[in-house]
Amino acid sequence: MERLVGLLGDPVAHTLSPAMHNAAFAALGIRFRYIAFRVEGARFERAMEGLEALGSAGTNITIPHKERAFRWVRNLDPSAARTGAVNTVVFDENGSTGYNTDLAGARAAIGKLAPRTGTALVLGAGGAARAVVCALLDEGFERVMLSNRSSERAARLLEDVASADPGFGSASLEAIPWGEEPPVPLDLLVNATSLGLGGSPWPDGTLDRVLPLAREGAILDLVYSGDGDTPLCAAAKSLGIPSASGLEMLLQQGAAAFTLFTGMPAPVGAMRAALDTTPGPGRTVAGPAAW
Ligand code: NAP
Repeated sequence: MERLVGLLGDPVAHTLSPAMHNAAFAALGIRFRYIAFRVEGARFERAMEGLEALGSAGTNITIPHKERAFRWVRNLDPSAARTGAVNTVVFDENGSTGYNTDLAGARAAIGKLAPRTGTALVLGAGGAARAVVCALLDEGFERVMLSNRSSERAARLLEDVASADPGFGSASLEAIPWGEEPPVPLDLLVNATSLGLGGSPWPDGTLDRVLPLAREGAILDLVYSGDGDTPLCAAAKSLGIPSASGLEMLLQQGAAAFTLFTGMPAPVGAMRAALDTTPGPGRTVAGPAAW
């Protein structure tokens, strides 16, 4: 019998996770099947109960349900307790346990892109931004700023992270109003909003305001595209700013989730190859994806 692994989110049309995980199951010859389900907020809890009742091994959680999943699971791994967000749930004899593998994924992506630490600005305050803020602190960034369209959500994020992790040393953590320029140049700018998702254009003028902030640093866009650069990475490239899309983070969070679902080391090479060659919406697959 095949074991089901889910992905719950809304939207999910852009996701490369099924291709990545199914390639990993095939590479190891194990009978698991990963399926993405578009689930709206009001039905999230029922969908989780359904997956558990069906004997699913577990599920990934994506936009916009990570904070909701944090409240739903019975047990919390420290990675989830610390971030206040769950992107991976494992069902077993203990019920459901929530993990946050975005944290490891974000650390890997940041470490690869930004050799020097210092000052970072995170745009967004959703589930992914929670993992990114913790990852930046773990990587040794001394000043982390957060800017979100809804300022209450940014304030809540900072409060939660500070109370779950009062020992992040001498690093400073602060919110700045959406659209306001940070007071100092940035070593790293991270887009953890859904702006640019599915190739959608950023609102008029926003990119022109955002890009100069990182002209001396680098840009990590958590959004990824199966078909060339994201709008933010394309604009960064045109100004000579080093940038990376969310593909490395996707790969690394997926590898960690794979091990939680199966108990086996992830075949990272097969997963990376799947991300390079899988057709997606509008994807031509003329060559390796834009990492
Ligand atoms: P989420 O919890 O729903 O948060 C969405 C965030 O985007 C919020 O901060 C929201 O601001 C902001 N936002 C949405 N539309 C906006 C707009 N028009 N203008 C300004 N801000 C806007 O979602 P999430 O789980 O954090 O995911 C955020 C993004 O990260 C998604 O694009 C997701 O695909 C990506 N992601 C990538 C990876 C990876 O492995 N590469 C992993 C996780 C997430 P408000 O709070 O004001 O609504």
